[in-house]
Amino acid sequence: MTEIARQTGLTTQEALAAQKLHGWNELPVVARSGPLRVWLRQFSSFLVLILIVAAAIALALGEKVDAITIGLVVMLNAALGFVQEWKAETALASLRKMLSPQAMVLRDGQEQMIPARDIVPGDILVLSPGAKVAADGIVVRAAELQVDESVLTGESVPVAKDGGKSGRNVFAGTSVIAGRAEARVTATGAKTEFGKIAHLTGSVGPKTTNLQNKLGQLARQLGTAALLVAAAVTGLGLLLGRDLAEMVMTGLSLSVAMVPEGLPAVVTITLALGAAAMVRQNALARRLQAVETLGAASVICADKTGTLTENKMTATQVWTMDRSYDVTGTGYDPAGHIAVDGARIRAADDPVLAALLQVGLYCSHARLNREGDHWQMTGAPTEGALITLGYKGWCDLPNERGLLAEIPFSSARKRMSVLYQSENETSVLTKGAPEQVLEVCTQVMTQTGVRALLPVDHDAILQAFHDLAGQGLRVIGLARRTADDKQMTEEALTFLGLVGLIDPPRSEVRDAISLARAAGIKVIMITGDSPITAGAIANQLSLNVTQHLTGADLDKLDDAALDDLLQGDVLFARTKPEQKMRIVSALQAQGQIVAMTGDGVNDAPALKQADIGVSMGIRGTDVARDASDLVLLDDNFATIVRAIGEGRRQFANVQKFVRYLLSSNAGEVIALVVNIAIGGPLVFLATQILWMNLVTDGVTAVALGLEKSEPDQMRQKPRRKDTPILGVSGVVTILVFGTYTGLSSLWVFFHLMDLGVELARTTAFTAMVVFEKVSVFAFRSLRLPSWKIGWFSNPFLLLALAVTLTAQMLAIYWPPLQTLLHTVPMGRDEWALIALFALPIFVVPEVLKALGLRLQRT
Ligand code: ATP
Repeated sequence: MTEIARQTGLTTQEALAAQKLHGWNELPVVARSGPLRVWLRQFSSFLVLILIVAAAIALALGEKVDAITIGLVVMLNAALGFVQEWKAETALASLRKMLSPQAMVLRDGQEQMIPARDIVPGDILVLSPGAKVAADGIVVRAAELQVDESVLTGESVPVAKDGGKSGRNVFAGTSVIAGRAEARVTATGAKTEFGKIAHLTGSVGPKTTNLQNKLGQLARQLGTAALLVAAAVTGLGLLLGRDLAEMVMTGLSLSVAMVPEGLPAVVTITLALGAAAMVRQNALARRLQAVETLGAASVICADKTGTLTENKMTATQVWTMDRSYDVTGTGYDPAGHIAVDGARIRAADDPVLAALLQVGLYCSHARLNREGDHWQMTGAPTEGALITLGYKGWCDLPNERGLLAEIPFSSARKRMSVLYQSENETSVLTKGAPEQVLEVCTQVMTQTGVRALLPVDHDAILQAFHDLAGQGLRVIGLARRTADDKQMTEEALTFLGLVGLIDPPRSEVRDAISLARAAGIKVIMITGDSPITAGAIANQLSLNVTQHLTGADLDKLDDAALDDLLQGDVLFARTKPEQKMRIVSALQAQGQIVAMTGDGVNDAPALKQADIGVSMGIRGTDVARDASDLVLLDDNFATIVRAIGEGRRQFANVQKFVRYLLSSNAGEVIALVVNIAIGGPLVFLATQILWMNLVTDGVTAVALGLEKSEPDQMRQKPRRKDTPILGVSGVVTILVFGTYTGLSSLWVFFHLMDLGVELARTTAFTAMVVFEKVSVFAFRSLRLPSWKIGWFSNPFLLLALAVTLTAQMLAIYWPPLQTLLHTVPMGRDEWALIALFALPIFVVPEVLKALGLRLQRT
């Protein structure tokens, strides 16, 4: 401890004045891609290159209209891509904003959480484990502060800062590993050491996901194959003595038909819109990848306090060696009292209670403030509950100046102590998990005085602890000793008693657990709390648990035994954060996809190791958030289950529109190839194929990406992580649809040939568009008939159908488009022919799916 006097910090006025002088505490943000960049990016793809070559060839062959049309299509594609990408960027930028950091400071004499950008030089930063230091500063008070400065120095060994000469400075961007401190801010924003060397690292990175990579790869492969096939067909035709211009145009059409041009843009927009949909459900994906992996999650490892429970603690019971006390009142409102057998009692009436309440009040960092009728608590809920208890017992409030030293709480030690000097004595005050406190006690305090702690006392204390924990209460043990030597050591303490805190389970969690179970997802509770408390809470939540394992038990198990245990329903209690890592690895070795929650600084490695690291938006530390893939904005377990549902929906939708788009390409390719074999005139022109792939199918595919989740989605088992997007059944579906639509349009083409090739081609082209529109109903669900998912449940799809059919009408009846697409007006007979062939595309899949559903039921 350096300066004993507690700081009061700046006043709001002083802070405002300083803000005007020094500006915001933020680094110049790396500009997101500007509109021009996003626009230019649209022309850098492989597809556009093919199209530009196509336009050049068309021009060389004297087909000016085609060259212009292809040019227009390139521009249109760029415009669509631009709008979609810009929308995706904007959505991501607003997500990034939601992650903007907060920091605890002393202002107007009170600890307050404020946006980190509001910090000014002169502010007093309050640093606790897991916090990122928000500005450069000088330590003015410290208790065992350790800081990870690796972002600045590359050295990952924590550095101790005691406020003495050896460690006075803390730096922005570094993170607190342990201890507590107050630091006076000396530099903010770009003037900090971090600001001098670093660019702001955007947290929601524009990194592409596996899915995007896989689909990008697929598009590139199809592109290369397209060029090769086109070249081969052209070459072969020439060898057979066919006309050069005709064969080049055929090759061109074929290569355009093979590439799913709309795919990349559709995937990007679907993932970005999906991430925005998740935020509405209170789950913020820090990486788009998380959404994809979430859909495959098979195990959720959740901590108890705050995730499964409310983390709103209230002391309801107090136990000392010779008395049990009941406590009334709720929350952090000190209205309430302590009673023994119904008779109210205060600290002044009971020396043991007085000593116990004093430890709860003095060995703490929480504060209660009255705001109107409402009591506000800042600090850890466990401590807030003990402070409130002190108020209810009319205990004297501590003097800030009395605090001489502290050994802070950590989840690994599970206890904390302070050295406190009052008017007439100095003492060590300790609180923590009962076992950890008992370990350092040699005496007990009773109504008749202090005496040696005997084995029977030890048993009685453990029995009382187990009784309280059995009711689902979180139990804290309290102890003290006089320390005239002013030595801060946790030994030879006098045990005072236990406090039982109620922390009710969150109301939605019970249903969320049964939802997860129905979806084949296992839920494992991993907590620092005692096995008995954890077991009682698990019971209240209907989380079936057959085995309770403590961290100490875990250390004794070898990997094979742990593997066996994890096959069953197990709960881990009194674990240290480091042990989470082993549990994640063991589950992953079983092939599970693990989502793991964590909020503390020591949770970071496990969060990184897990397939989906989940951190907390309210309670979590900056370090945990930085290591995670998903942030729960409401800290609630139920949100994870909802996010998994969202992940499943998105993966399913990608599967749907990939099949949809590729079946359209397959239809075009099959028609073209069969036609080449027969030797007929070109059935679709390159420009018509582009129109289909980009305009009519692209828009419909985006709408398909917005399909709601299927009714029984959360009754299916999780998919395996390596589930292909297509798979054998996907390829078969695509080929079946492609063969039918391709051959049907070809038949229509030849059937109408006598009426002129232009009309025949226009009808074949329109037939293909209509077939695709109708087939979308088959892809809305790969298992369920449309009546099961609701005809109107995706209004975007209906809108897309209306828009694209109107576009197709314009393509046939509006002269400018007629010229560009080489179409002629169609009559009623042609429409009837198309309708006839379209009907089975609609009816057959519906009937097959209905039959499949019935078979499944029987
Ligand atoms: P979870 O891991 O589910 O969040 P937890 O919050 O109980 O559970 P820890 O924070 O590791 O896990 O706490 C472990 C134990 O340490 C608690 O059961 C309690 O007995 C004790 N404890 C918690 N907070 C404090 C504190 N501020 N001071 C002293 N002891 C504490």
